[in-house]
Amino acid sequence: MPKLIFLGTSNAIPDETHENTHMAVVGESHFLLIDCVNNPIVRMKQAGLNVWELTDLLLTHFHPDHVSGVPSLLMNSWLLGRSKPLNIYGLEYTLERVEKMMGFYEWHSWPNFFPVTFKNVADKEMAPVLENEDMSVFASPVHHMVPAIGLRIEFFVSGQVAAYSCDTEPCKEVVRLARDADVLIHEATGATFGHTSAAQAGNVASEAGAKSLYLIHYRTGDFDPRPLVEEARSTFSGQVYLAEDFMELDFQA
Ligand SMILES: [Zn+2]
Repeated sequence: MPKLIFLGTSNAIPDETHENTHMAVVGESHFLLIDCVNNPIVRMKQAGLNVWELTDLLLTHFHPDHVSGVPSLLMNSWLLGRSKPLNIYGLEYTLERVEKMMGFYEWHSWPNFFPVTFKNVADKEMAPVLENEDMSVFASPVHHMVPAIGLRIEFFVSGQVAAYSCDTEPCKEVVRLARDADVLIHEATGATFGHTSAAQAGNVASEAGAKSLYLIHYRTGDFDPRPLVEEARSTFSGQVYLAEDFMELDFQA
């Protein structure tokens, strides 16, 4: 501990072995889920995680492949008897929509529902999101089709840093989030509107001075993502990996 586990690594279209991109960050006292898709409780169990330990949920942006699992997570946790509070973090734009989505399910009428607190993340660079015994998390707006945030996670026990681009075009905000980071997790959907290619992700990692790059949110299905690693190596001399579902990264001292 602490560790980061990829629960999904695909772009918006998952396949049998790649769920939509989302991840868990687990420390001694806190368990943060970053984005929430499909049925996250099943996914967390498959990853060997204790769903009862979940303390915080951070939503990067309001696209189905990043928030579709929120109703299932909340309903299943409630039906399983959760009483522990849950904090949900995100931009006001995102949280407003999540609350509306839950409103359609009439969640306020669910008896004995556990406490959920929405916490707005400021729409500015390096906005503090949360701090606990394990980690500090900061967010910056990135360049996507809807308001979206990238992240910087600083682990206290080791002083190590992980950054996550979220869905974005290549941008300076991610360079600054990933400044001297041990790990940059960058999307590699391709050089399309609101997204980034593997070579461009390599450039961002180089500019940031990151030590390693994990490519995520890539095309799956009939597409072979393995050559993306070589593509990123053309622009980045550090270690490059393809993030895969259930891969674990350690951030202990
Ligand atoms: Zn998106």
